[in-house]
Amino acid sequence: MGVRMTKTLTPVVKAVGHEFDSPMYHEAVGQFDRVARLMGLDDNVADRLRVPQKSTTVSFPFRHDNYSEVETLFGYRVQHLTTMGPTKGGIRFAPDVDLGEVAALAMLMTWKCSIVGLPFGGAKGGVRLDPMQLSRAELQRVTRRFTMEIIHLIGPDTDIPAPDLGTNEQVMAWMMDTYSQHVGHSVPAVVTGKPPSLGGSVARREATGRGIMFLLPQAAAIRELDPKDATVAIHGFGNVGRYAAIAGNQMGARVVAVSDISGAVYNPDGLKIETLTNWVDENRFLEGYPDADHLDGDELFFLPVDVLVPAAVQNVIRADNADNIQAKIILEGANAPTTIEADDMLRAREVLMVPDILANAGGVTVSYFEWVQDVQKYFWTENEVVARLREIMTRAFSDVHNIALSENVDLRTAALIKGIRKVADAKLVRGIFP
Ligand code: NAD
Repeated sequence: MGVRMTKTLTPVVKAVGHEFDSPMYHEAVGQFDRVARLMGLDDNVADRLRVPQKSTTVSFPFRHDNYSEVETLFGYRVQHLTTMGPTKGGIRFAPDVDLGEVAALAMLMTWKCSIVGLPFGGAKGGVRLDPMQLSRAELQRVTRRFTMEIIHLIGPDTDIPAPDLGTNEQVMAWMMDTYSQHVGHSVPAVVTGKPPSLGGSVARREATGRGIMFLLPQAAAIRELDPKDATVAIHGFGNVGRYAAIAGNQMGARVVAVSDISGAVYNPDGLKIETLTNWVDENRFLEGYPDADHLDGDELFFLPVDVLVPAAVQNVIRADNADNIQAKIILEGANAPTTIEADDMLRAREVLMVPDILANAGGVTVSYFEWVQDVQKYFWTENEVVARLREIMTRAFSDVHNIALSENVDLRTAALIKGIRKVADAKLVRGIFP
C-alpha cells in the first residue's frame, strides 16, 4: 500500500523575512496580514506572499567626476511575485534606499498591478545615493553600472523597470541603451517610461498625476463635494506632483499649495501652475518663486484644503501629524505616504483615504500600455492612451468602492482584498513545483 499524501501541510515557522527588516517593510506586511486575516486567506499562500520571491543586493564602485574619488554604492532589485507574468516596478535613486524599503515597494506593486488588472507581478529597485548631488555624467555612469549589475534579472519577458523617485525618462533611456548594447540589438520593451523618441508611450510622463485626478470626481462624490469647487494641496512637485497639479487645474479644481524638498508655496486664490512649472524648469526648486507665500514643506499638510495629495516620499503622514490634517479627501500619489496608525486616525475622523495602490496606479497602467506597444511595434495615439487610462482607473475605483460597500470596509482594505484575491487564486491554481 502506498504512502498516503493527503495530510495538510501546516508551516512550522511563519515566513517573517528578517532579511527585509525595515519600518516600511513592517508597515507593508502589517497591512497585508490584517487583510489576509479578514479574508481568511490560506496560511500557506499568505506565507508565500509575505516575502518576495527573489531579491538581489549589489555593491559596485562609482567614480565621481573628480577622478580620484571612488565610492562604493549599494543597489537592489526585488521581485515580489513571478507567478503571473513578468515583474514590473520602478527604480529609485534616493539617499535612504535599503533592501526592506525596496521589498515593501515591490509588494505594493504586486497589489497595484492586480487591482488594475495588469499581467505583471510587482518589483522594485533602487540605488542608495542622493541624485541631487550628481552631475549629468555621474548620473549616467551610476545608471549604466547599476543596469549592468542587474542585467541578468531584467528583460522584456522577465522584469521591466520604470522611473520612480529620483529617476526619469533619461535614466530609462540609458538603462535601455545599456541593456541593448549588452544583447546586441535594440530592446525598447526592457524598460518603460522612456522618451517617446525611443519607443516610450505618449502620455506616460503625465500618467500617474493624471490618473490620480481621474479619481477625484468619484472620491468627491462620496464626500458630497463638487470637484470644481475643491481646493487642493500637493506635497511633492516632481513627476507625480507636477502632473497631478496640471490635471487638477485642468478639471477646474483650485490647486492652492505645492511643495518640494526646498519648501512649500501657497496662494489661497489658486497657484498659476504653468508659471510654477516654468519656474521649476529654470530654477530646479520652488525656492524663490515670486507669486506666492512660502511655507515650510511640512506646513502644507495642515492647510485648510479639501483634498491633499502626498506625492513626494513615504511615511510623511504619521501619528504625530495626522490629527492636524484638515483635508476631507487624501489621494495618495506617493507610495506608502501614510503609516497604519495615521491611517486609522484619519479614517476615525472620516477622512476619505484613496490608497496608493489604487490612486497612483495610472503610472504602471500606461507603462503596461508602453510595453504592449513596444512588443507589438504598433503605437497608439494620445487620445487612445488617455481614454484607456481613464477607463481602467475609474473602473478600478468603482470595483474597489463596491467591495468597500459590500464588505463594510475602508477603500484601502477593499483595494487590498481585490489585489490579494486574484494573486492568491493564481498561486493556488498553479500549485507547487515539483
Ligand atoms: P520625483 O523624483 O520626480 O519627485 C519627487 C518630489 O518630491 C520632488 O519635488 C522632490 O523635491 C520632493 N521630495 C523629495 N524628497 C523629499 C522629502 N524628503 N521631503 C519633501 N519632499 C521631497 O519622484 P516621482 O516620480 O514624482 O515620485 C514621487 C512618489 O510617487 C514616490 O513615492 C514614487 O514611488 C511614487 N510614484 C511614482 C510614479 C511615477 O510614475 N513616477 C508612479 C507611482 C508612484
